[in-house]
Amino acid sequence: MLNLVAINAAYIVAAGLFIFGLKMLGHPESARRGNFLSAVGMLIAIVVTLLSEGILTWYWIAVCAVIGSVIGASAARLVAMTSMPEMVAVFNGFGGAASLLVAWAALFDSYGLFVAITVTLSVIIGGVTFAGSVIAWGKLSEVMTSRAIVFNGQRIVNTLLLLALLACAVMFCLEPSAQSPYLYGVIGLALILGIFVVIPIGGADMPVVISLLNSYSGLAACAAGFAINNIILIVAGSLVGAAGIILTNIMCKAMNRSLGNVLFSGFGAVKTAMKVEGEVKPISAGDAYLILEAANSVTFVPGYGMAVAQAQHVVCELGELLEAHGAEVSYAIHPVAGRMPGHMNVLLAEANVSYDQLVEMDDINPRLPSIDVAVVIGANDVVNPSARDDEGSPIYGMPIINVDDAKTVFVLKRSMASGFAGVDNPLFMGPNTRMLFGDAKASISEIISEFKP
Ligand code: NDP
Repeated sequence: MLNLVAINAAYIVAAGLFIFGLKMLGHPESARRGNFLSAVGMLIAIVVTLLSEGILTWYWIAVCAVIGSVIGASAARLVAMTSMPEMVAVFNGFGGAASLLVAWAALFDSYGLFVAITVTLSVIIGGVTFAGSVIAWGKLSEVMTSRAIVFNGQRIVNTLLLLALLACAVMFCLEPSAQSPYLYGVIGLALILGIFVVIPIGGADMPVVISLLNSYSGLAACAAGFAINNIILIVAGSLVGAAGIILTNIMCKAMNRSLGNVLFSGFGAVKTAMKVEGEVKPISAGDAYLILEAANSVTFVPGYGMAVAQAQHVVCELGELLEAHGAEVSYAIHPVAGRMPGHMNVLLAEANVSYDQLVEMDDINPRLPSIDVAVVIGANDVVNPSARDDEGSPIYGMPIINVDDAKTVFVLKRSMASGFAGVDNPLFMGPNTRMLFGDAKASISEIISEFKP
């Protein structure tokens, strides 16, 4: 058993590691170290809690740590980069369920009204998070339809569910007990509400919902921390809650959507975009090579297709070849390119692209008119000019990378298919655009082979 001073000192160290770790996640160069620091903080917090409460001995802590590490390391290695949002959904769900169970367990000890209220909060938020995350995972992995499921009277059903949930919560708090039928009611209704609030949201908006559920899982943990009077759980939960809501806000801004629009757009009206017409001008890898070889400045604009093609390594190799030919090379990163925040940064870091070559959207846009070639690699929505020019477009107002300002644009994709938002892209018919059809990795490998005699 540890004494109180040692426990609190360890918790302060853990909280400091969480905060510094989070801060370091703000830049790609320090992100890995930040992740490691936070993980060390979590390890300290868990070990100290288990020892101080006499829950497990060192032996069992070591056994569980090994089992958990094997599961975590295998998941990290085996899950494809494109499936990360599903994995995060599963983690959030586990977080919500864990908070629900921890709070419930607090009722098997002695407790007063304050604990009953915090248990109720944790059970409600944890239940909604768990069920909502399972649905989010189902939609993203296409185990169920990824379309918005809407029906007449949906809002009324949701409102009635919420009212019934609140009534059960009040009844439970008036006479709290671990076996109270009202507690079972709160748990059941929270789970049903979690399902009902996520089903009307389309698969396209799921990453934002996952970020929001991440925030909820933090709030549930925070409430559970109050229920069992554990300071570090309160701190960690608040940090996750705040970080999740900030990320949700950043994603909504980058898509020019309000959170209300994301959560309730299944009920909203559909906009009609302008019809996109014009001539598509395909180009071969050989001709693309000739133009690239003569270019003084080249910007790569990666998108979801680069992740699908796993083209990051060949993109980096092409970048190095172009630099060797005297061109200035940069990588323009849109905040919501790909399927999760920082998706492109992670892929390019994996390929060892230098961090100072990464340029954010707001910094690259004024530079684009002077850039010789913008090479769009599997990006679509984030370079769609109708987001800027067509008020009827469903993505109107979303900030984009203005690649059409560059002297020449190459678009690497397999077909004329639309991107995530399902809208046509007039960039493909632009006067300065050339389409290089095919898998992005294969197309870039072909261009690279032209460089090598
Ligand atoms: P998009 O989904 O708009 O487009 C991706 C393009 O990649 C497709 O048009 C596809 O065309 C092409 N592609 C797919 N596979 C390959 C391949 N093997 N080789 C070459 N091309 C390929 O991606 P963006 O990155 O431009 O936009 C991201 C979208 O995701 C935005 O709408 C954003 O709002 C949304 N989103 C992003 C989130 C985030 O956090 N990053 C969160 C929520 C939503 P084709 O099939 O013809 O090859």
